Amino acid sequence: MIRIRLGKRKYVGDGGETTRPHAFLVRQLTGWDPTMSEHDVYDAARGWWKLSDRAEREQYAAIVGDGVVRMVVEIDEWATNDERRGFAGTVLQPGHPVRDALVGRDDPVPTTSRNPIAYFRHDLEAGICRCGCGERVPSGDWVQGHDQRALHQLINDEFGGSVSRFLDWYEDAAAARG
Ligand SMILES: [Zn+2]
Repeated sequence: MIRIRLGKRKYVGDGGETTRPHAFLVRQLTGWDPTMSEHDVYDAARGWWKLSDRAEREQYAAIVGDGVVRMVVEIDEWATNDERRGFAGTVLQPGHPVRDALVGRDDPVPTTSRNPIAYFRHDLEAGICRCGCGERVPSGDWVQGHDQRALHQLINDEFGGSVSRFLDWYEDAAAARG
């Protein structure tokens, strides 16, 4: 699942954002505040974000405003604009188990990172292969072989396909942890 943390509400005009207007997502507001309608929050959450290919394999987006999950969207469609991505989908309503497990609760990824985007795996996503292929798995996280595929995909998406760069990054991160 993707977690998207919205900042303070901001008027951006009719699509007049940092990116060029794109018919896929035209909106007047970004961010979140309690007076925004469901439709405005949905549009504010949809884009345009700097996201890796990984995002397009996620089924749900949990939208966080002021430290609390405000909305969960089941993602149906993606578009790209200026190397940023936006999505469209269905706002889950009360009674949907994924929505009910998250909305009104604290940010599921309470990091201090300034990156509004994070990924997490909710228990309700168990039983489906983690790689995003959508196949069911009777136990564990992966269809056989898909763990390898996911690792290679990560190295392709985030490290330009270089295992050396991935290992360098890992060693730096491990050293920083002490
Ligand atoms: Zn898979």
